[in-house]
Amino acid sequence: MNKKIKIEVSARHIHLKKDDFEKLFGENAKLTVKKELSQPGMFAANETVSVKNENFQIDNLRIVGPLRSYTQIELSKTEARKFKIDPPLRRSGNIENSSGMIIIGPKGEIEINEGVIIAKRHIHMTLKDAEEINVKDGDLLKVKTVGERGLIFENVVARVDENFSWAMHIDTDEGNAGGIQEVEEGEVVLK
Ligand SMILES: [Zn+2]
Repeated sequence: MNKKIKIEVSARHIHLKKDDFEKLFGENAKLTVKKELSQPGMFAANETVSVKNENFQIDNLRIVGPLRSYTQIELSKTEARKFKIDPPLRRSGNIENSSGMIIIGPKGEIEINEGVIIAKRHIHMTLKDAEEINVKDGDLLKVKTVGERGLIFENVVARVDENFSWAMHIDTDEGNAGGIQEVEEGEVVLK
């Protein structure tokens, strides 16, 4: 028996650590909530930044809050190509030796030497969810989608945390490849 899952397409976005946020927005600035996301406590902020290198620039890059302990930009491979960079495919938070970028906010500009990644597709789940399907954090799963461009996503990372809720995240390239709109349903293939 397979288990149904909601698949959400994550567009490019940025996470900021406090120190960098203050350099970009000023010392007393605060992130404000535009829209709550499916993961408890996480939100798309009203605040955006620009990011650039010598080849390309993207404006209005949405900040996903709350602030984190690291600064990270998540792009699709298609977007990375426009910058002529080749960021590694990584689990969120694992930014060592990833690509660099210049970040521009309303009050300042910073340059990061690492922090740009392509996010590995993943499923957020609680420990209870993980036990139910008999997997542990870091395990790789298969997810099947339906429709005209239906496909099977392999190597979907299980991310287990008490604060998560059952949902799969893919990027815009993956969404387009599978004909998946913003939110759609898939099935975790259980052995
Ligand atoms: Zn996610």
